[in-house]
Amino acid sequence: MPELPEVETVRRSLLPLVKGEVIREVRICLEKAVKPAPEQFVAELTGKEIIDLQRRGKYLLMVLDSGQQVAFHLRMSGRLVWQVGAVPLEKHTTLVLNFDDGHSLHFVDPRKFGTAVLFPPAPPPAGLQTLGLEPLTTKKEELLAALEQAAARRSGPVKGLLLDQGVLAGLGNIYADEVLFAAGVRPMRPAREVTTAEWEKIYQRMIEILNKALDHRGTSRRDYVDGRGEPGDFQNHLQVYGRKKEPCLVCGNQLVYTRVVGRGTHYCPVCQE
Ligand SMILES: [Zn+2]
Repeated sequence: MPELPEVETVRRSLLPLVKGEVIREVRICLEKAVKPAPEQFVAELTGKEIIDLQRRGKYLLMVLDSGQQVAFHLRMSGRLVWQVGAVPLEKHTTLVLNFDDGHSLHFVDPRKFGTAVLFPPAPPPAGLQTLGLEPLTTKKEELLAALEQAAARRSGPVKGLLLDQGVLAGLGNIYADEVLFAAGVRPMRPAREVTTAEWEKIYQRMIEILNKALDHRGTSRRDYVDGRGEPGDFQNHLQVYGRKKEPCLVCGNQLVYTRVVGRGTHYCPVCQE
């Protein structure tokens, strides 16, 4: 699933392409992917100019000259790809925006969980309204305080807290495992037992890893590509994620693969306490 570095990479790659484009035609191939209902979605979007693309957590926000926004969520397998000129629709296309100059933006989603919400008239997605802090743009002191406060209130594992979009916006399964490995903290440790010194380390490693993943334009394991259809290459730099039972790159011991908060989880029983 695309996480902060992937969605941000899509945003950066698409922004210079879509900014200033006027939507001439909207084609909806999967009705449940859009809100409000198709007829209103098409009527409201047609003729609008795209003036900006922003990101909050894993949401990509297309800002229109009317003041409305379209909140895209790629979920498991969604891709937003720019196309030059008329191209045949790829299998699993859910939505197409055709622009005045003949270019288009295609939302392709094999697993069909991705969504595009136009608000208003639809209400903003609930997940967007309750989003927590952005790791890369929130002041360190503020973010650390929020993490420690949230940790004090919960008995569950620290990994669950890092994945909680209402606390921290944008981390998913891949980067949560990578951050906890780099910080030396086991994913199943109760969040409230993580020390202040460990939170400091988790914070530092999270910033480093997210920035490095952005430099590498995200992690492409299955479907993820940027807005030009190019894969990222951070999958070649992952330390634990996807390396089930392989030797730890730091100590050589066998990694453990297990379930934490219902999610497949990788960690090193020697390097992480
Ligand atoms: Zn190790």
